[in-house]
Amino acid sequence: MKILDGRKISNDIKAEIKAEVDKMKERGEKVPHLAAIIVGNDGASLTYVGSKVRSCERVGFESTLIQMPSTTSELELLKKIEELNQNDDIDGFIVQLPLPDQIDTQEVIMAVHPDKDVDGFHPTNFGKMALDMSTFIPATPFGILELLERYQVETQGKHTVVIGRSHIVGRPMSILMGRKGFPGNSTVTLTHSRTKNISQITTQADIIISALGVPGFLKAEMVKDDVVIIDVGITRVADDSKEKGYYITGDVDFENVSKKASYITPVPGGVGPMTIAMLLKNTLLARERHRSRK
Ligand code: NAP
Repeated sequence: MKILDGRKISNDIKAEIKAEVDKMKERGEKVPHLAAIIVGNDGASLTYVGSKVRSCERVGFESTLIQMPSTTSELELLKKIEELNQNDDIDGFIVQLPLPDQIDTQEVIMAVHPDKDVDGFHPTNFGKMALDMSTFIPATPFGILELLERYQVETQGKHTVVIGRSHIVGRPMSILMGRKGFPGNSTVTLTHSRTKNISQITTQADIIISALGVPGFLKAEMVKDDVVIIDVGITRVADDSKEKGYYITGDVDFENVSKKASYITPVPGGVGPMTIAMLLKNTLLARERHRSRK
């Protein structure tokens, strides 16, 4: 069994990005600038946004964090998004999800200009991804592709089973694994909460990408020998014995499934760090595109 070490690979990617940014600085060029909007005080969201901003600083990007109160109206948020769309200094930005109930997430996703949509959530970018066109691939699926590529995990002709059909992970992952090329060329089955006899499907999988958010869902008896496991799940489980009052766990019963797997991502330290690294990569791409339009 080999660990797909997202922490190591994400550090490699950040070092590569930093080297590019250092060269930009030497040439006297403007460095990439990422902005992030967060609405409200959700603990997990604040943690994610905080580490995105810190990662920007580590690689030498400029970053701007915009915090808006949980009472923010949809109109107020849309106005802020339009300001960022128009701001020539900002190459790309994200709106941290989830949003408070009074705000329609779809409206927000549609309002971000596709050229600045480094999350890759806008329908224009999602459509381009599905049509194999160059675009921003959503950071978590992009990170999974990068892990598979850097560890040279064979995907061609394999049966990939994706668990979960969210717009940010499961659905795009199912499209990407079925694309022509590497990583890709898989035969893909997309499963969800209405799938019957899911164990019958997962036991036939060569690769399982689990993105449902149910701790310990995938058990050893649900997988075959030598399976490749990508565990996207991140759940905070309350635990008073921990300093933070919780621990983080994935969807996979790691202890037992890892004994059967050929490759497996740990949680934490697998897909999570890759997501941030690929957001930075998308921001670098946004900056290149921004410059080429000038
Ligand atoms: P989500 O929107 O929470 O949706 C969960 C998906 O799982 C849905 O499609 C749901 O089916 C399916 N599902 C729920 N229970 C199921 C069951 N018992 N059997 C089969 N399918 C089931 O998904 P998400 O936003 O992609 O998040 C999933 C997990 O990944 C969460 O733990 C989240 O924290 C984590 N995540 C991690 C990262 C990272 O960077 N590592 C990034 C994003 C998300 P229905 O569609 O039928 O409801």
